[in-house]
Amino acid sequence: QEQEKKKEEFIFKSRLPDIYIPNHLPLHSYIFQDLDHFATHPCLINAPTGQVFTYSDVHLKARRVASGLNKLGIRQADVIMILLPNSPQFVFSFLGASFRGAIATAANPFFTPAEIAKQAKASNARLLVTQSSYYDKVKDLDGHLTLVFVDTPPEKHLLHFSELEEADEGEIPEVEIRPDDVVALPYSSGTTGLPKGVMLTHKGLVTSVGQQVDGDNPNLYYHSADVIMCVLPMFHIYSLNSVLLCGLRAKATIILMPKFDITAFLGLVEKHGVTICPVVPPIILAIAKCPDLHNYNLSSIRVLKSGGAPLGKDLEHTVRLKFPNAKLGQGYGMTEAGPVLTMCLTFAKEAIDGKPGACGTVVRNAEMKIVDPETENSLPRNQPGEICIRGDQIMKGYLNDPESTERTIDKEGWLHTGDIGYIDDDDELFIVDRLKELIKYKGFQVAPAELEALLLSHPKISDAAVVPMKDEAAGEVPVAFVVAANGHTDTTEDEIKQFVSKQVVFYKRINRVFFVDAIPKSPSGKILRKDLRARLALPLPN
Ligand code: AMP
Repeated sequence: QEQEKKKEEFIFKSRLPDIYIPNHLPLHSYIFQDLDHFATHPCLINAPTGQVFTYSDVHLKARRVASGLNKLGIRQADVIMILLPNSPQFVFSFLGASFRGAIATAANPFFTPAEIAKQAKASNARLLVTQSSYYDKVKDLDGHLTLVFVDTPPEKHLLHFSELEEADEGEIPEVEIRPDDVVALPYSSGTTGLPKGVMLTHKGLVTSVGQQVDGDNPNLYYHSADVIMCVLPMFHIYSLNSVLLCGLRAKATIILMPKFDITAFLGLVEKHGVTICPVVPPIILAIAKCPDLHNYNLSSIRVLKSGGAPLGKDLEHTVRLKFPNAKLGQGYGMTEAGPVLTMCLTFAKEAIDGKPGACGTVVRNAEMKIVDPETENSLPRNQPGEICIRGDQIMKGYLNDPESTERTIDKEGWLHTGDIGYIDDDDELFIVDRLKELIKYKGFQVAPAELEALLLSHPKISDAAVVPMKDEAAGEVPVAFVVAANGHTDTTEDEIKQFVSKQVVFYKRINRVFFVDAIPKSPSGKILRKDLRARLALPLPN
């Protein structure tokens, strides 16, 4: 009992009071709760075409898609897959799935055919919404699931998105959606192993969005007058939740940009008077390095928010000087946490921005604790340990993987992030290290276990380990330590790199290969990744 008491000792909450979040509602009902007041307000602007969709347009399209999905045989709890860049059809498909009581899993369009097929199979997707330029990647899925194209289908028997978009919205079947039903299924490797389906429920996403934009509105939060830049890919939960869903709930206007390009980005900020820019550190870097920044009127920006990966203090400082009137800060998320744990909201006296390096403060309606990884005791302020979070917003679990779920969410409901950080006297969180295997390339996930499995399938490799190496542009890149199989001393670094490159999306490519005699392992056979990371801190062999 004494120990139990100790474990619960240091729990951190937001200094903002908890609020009522109507998380009994299905996600789409919550998002469109006050539609009547905003029916004609611009909701989405598709940047490449300039096309504007009002809130009532989006509501109607989403309901039509729900009806169309039903017509094509999609039932409650079925999974649909979205393989699209940021586009109105992405939004309609995601919300349409929600209205139908179905689940959406989105994948990175840059994935290789094998990576796409893996996610389609693992999630048991029944239908795929995509575009013709990706046909070569998804051709082999034809017959296993229904293929729907947002542009001209490359073959006659394939379906066009109009089948969904133009269905009769009056024909959505009555579905009873429970708060605990899954609505989104992003993939993440979490603290260890291969990518897994992260089950985010209606209740979880409503709670997470509510934590970010509901209640009395500290000036950081989104308003209906805001214009939000959606350049981060919506297949990642950061963009889907904190940009799209939060923007929709706040009745803001969302600019959909299919791909990042600094000139186009700055031009759109000026053209649309963008007020909120949720980005990742590489975009902050591009802004900081842009020689023509002064040619654009960027004075509309009131919040520049970085998340997904650590933002270097020097870079933060440089950009702060360039945007003296905007609030610049970091948010911290993890797919499994729903995803937002902390937001750039500061309670430090008289400060507008958080402290350099701070990731913000814990969201309301949630509890955070910092746990000593050795003793599992919670720690007081200013002591680093594993960041844990508890609240209605976290995932329900991993799809078909109770073991991994148990390893991540403990019996008391705490989600263990695998990140090391501390909370200071002003409640600001600082992330200082990562306990878990995950590598982050420009905010994209690279799971070492996935690359290790690929390396081990190479006939000339007998053992392998993949760890992150620091990189200025990407933050981190994956590098491999490999043991050549008996008699294969002729294996080259290039050969191995190419072998991997052919099978993975660009950011999972191995940057360096180091040949070693053995991979350091614990007595139980676990790769001692810390040892390998420490080797990288030494001068590299040529
Ligand atoms: P993902 O599930 O792809 O969102 O990746 C989550 C992981 O990204 C976290 O567990 C952290 O390791 C890292 N991460 C996200 N935001 C930040 C941040 N602001 N600073 C440092 N690391 C971050």
